[in-house]
Amino acid sequence: MITEFSAAMVALKETISLAKTISEAKTDADVKATTFELQGKLFNLQSDCLGLGDVIQSQKEQIAHLKAKVAEFKNFAREAEGYILNHLESGTFVYSKKQIVNETEVSIHLCPHCFTKKIISILQPVEQIYFMSHCPSCKNHYQIKNREIGL
Ligand SMILES: [Zn+2]
Repeated sequence: MITEFSAAMVALKETISLAKTISEAKTDADVKATTFELQGKLFNLQSDCLGLGDVIQSQKEQIAHLKAKVAEFKNFAREAEGYILNHLESGTFVYSKKQIVNETEVSIHLCPHCFTKKIISILQPVEQIYFMSHCPSCKNHYQIKNREIGL
């Protein structure tokens, strides 16, 4: 944007200089020639200003995109608060946090794959396989307990 702005400022300076030249011209031929040159400079200046408008619009879009990303990161940080990397008895690594659910303290496990992508996805038990859980988002399966312990 600095380059486009500098170009517009140079074109503006040249335009002002040409206007001064016109005011000091001695003949109609000089006025006409300088006026023609002034029209060209004004056209270029208009083009530069339009280019600046495009740059400003593009930067506004980038700012909106970055603000959305910052909000996304803040939201993830708020939702991920209290979760720590946990090594389960099965050897599986997940992010866990103890929470009270229905007046009972339970460990909530998050999918580590989704966690690295800033997605909070609570692992859910796999039906009829008590030692396995799956991630509803990425569909990965995780062994939560050792098979031998449950037998
Ligand atoms: Zn997942």
